[in-house]
Amino acid sequence: MEHAELAALLFPHINKKLADYEDIYPPRRLPAGAPVTRLGPSPTGFIHLGNLYGALADERLAHQSGGLFLLRVEDTDEKRETPGAVEALIDALAYFGLRFDEGAAADGERGNYGPYRQSRRAELYQTAARALTERGLAYPCFCSEEELREIRAAQTAAGANPGYYGPWARHRSLPPEEVKRRLEKGEPFVLRWRAPAAGGEITAPDAIRGPLVLPANDQDIVLLKSNGIPTYHFAHVVDDHFMRVTHVVRGEEWLPSLPVHTQIFAALGWEQPVYCHTPLLLKMEAGGKRKLSKRKDPELALDFYRREGYHPLAVREYLMTILNSGYEEWRLGHPDAPMEKFPFDLAKIGSSGALFDLQKLNDISKNVFAALPPAETADFLRRWAEAWRPETAALWAADREYLTAIAAIGRREANPRKDFIYGAQIFSFISFFFDEYFTPEDPLPANVSAAEAWRLLEGYLAVYDHAADRESWFAGVKRLAAVSGYAEKPKDYKKQPESYKGHVGDVSAVIRLALSGRKNSPDLWEIQQVMGEERVRRRLAAAAQYDWPL
Ligand code: GLU
Repeated sequence: MEHAELAALLFPHINKKLADYEDIYPPRRLPAGAPVTRLGPSPTGFIHLGNLYGALADERLAHQSGGLFLLRVEDTDEKRETPGAVEALIDALAYFGLRFDEGAAADGERGNYGPYRQSRRAELYQTAARALTERGLAYPCFCSEEELREIRAAQTAAGANPGYYGPWARHRSLPPEEVKRRLEKGEPFVLRWRAPAAGGEITAPDAIRGPLVLPANDQDIVLLKSNGIPTYHFAHVVDDHFMRVTHVVRGEEWLPSLPVHTQIFAALGWEQPVYCHTPLLLKMEAGGKRKLSKRKDPELALDFYRREGYHPLAVREYLMTILNSGYEEWRLGHPDAPMEKFPFDLAKIGSSGALFDLQKLNDISKNVFAALPPAETADFLRRWAEAWRPETAALWAADREYLTAIAAIGRREANPRKDFIYGAQIFSFISFFFDEYFTPEDPLPANVSAAEAWRLLEGYLAVYDHAADRESWFAGVKRLAAVSGYAEKPKDYKKQPESYKGHVGDVSAVIRLALSGRKNSPDLWEIQQVMGEERVRRRLAAAAQYDWPL
């Protein structure tokens, strides 16, 4: 049987030619050299940090050079797809601030190179499959699971490499009559790639790793599954060609299959895009570095950062530091510049694993919140609470100004406080400002009894002047200390401890505990100003009843 006859038999419904698609998806009209990049996530319901890490490289690469960045949903594996996963994916990428120019979107899709969901491109893949079959480069394989197991067992017994290749590829050269007979019987088949004979090497450029030399592929990999849907290997080649993608940024786990991708591009006479294989995300552990794992590391899931309330800017900023060496240094020199001004360079992506460190992300988060205008911080926190702490959301939303004032504490100075890290942490940090969440957490100083604490607070209430500025307020606290038997200065107390009950620090500690429930807090005077006189007086008065923690 001629190849063309076989192709017609296998794909009777395909009547377009690849050349037709060249017209449907013409080369893009972009400035010369402008990259076209794509993110091709699979909607498995698990979006991980690696997706965002690669996406950031795609986005920078495209947008810093007048190119284009598109979103293609790689949903060819029905078994792994979960309901709502595509929407969740689009939503997550938007949350982390990724701008797509084209592709799948919340309200359908945008662009002239679609559909952008692989499950809707079956005809295109089959047209390419038909073309390969016509050239004798693809053939149907009817092997059942059982037969594949047999082949594997025989390979193990013979000490041969596993796989469907060379002499082990049972259906590679089935007699034409048999193919016909099986097709007539309606036997399911997959379409396999007819790989060249084993041996040789391929060389492929990689923008991150430099030129790669890999053993050529000899495996007759599956191009189309028995339902006519392509495997990743085939689908991405066809899509990256017809979507006119110039750079493929993907994880290094795809390196071993690069040789077959190279073969397919060449067989179809298409120019291969520039591959950019990003390093694995690693984590430092007592025993050394290891790959981040879905099972062991909750921080691998992008949802983790949303749930905990990390600001998307912090996550992006952090990923950029591990993506491009030199970014941190640049940031030091340009503390206020948007990240987009950094000259992103593929060659500066390390190839030996990117070390992920939550502590480092936390440091960056502190800086991000320190620089964010307080009203924006307040809005961010409110949105976070609505999504993840709905029971507290009403409280936060009730008084926008109060939340903004809280977020502003210590952040207007040249050297702003860096104690906001992420939503959940910020919530516990500032919860005492809200009566509903206030609770005495820390014990009184050892030298102050509950009765004595109340005497001090009563005295303080009597002299409290909400209008006093910081200096005169503190002078008042010192006077209160002195009349209550406490040294006005810690050093006086140190010199003559027997003459005093304690020093002014104990007095302000008691006030701080009554107001915040904690022994450490931001500046006391500022807390009072933010809380307002009424709340301050109410809190102080309530301390008469406290069961102070021991
Ligand atoms: N769908 C593939 C994945 O989720 C995409 C790989 C690629 O970007 O080519 O791993």
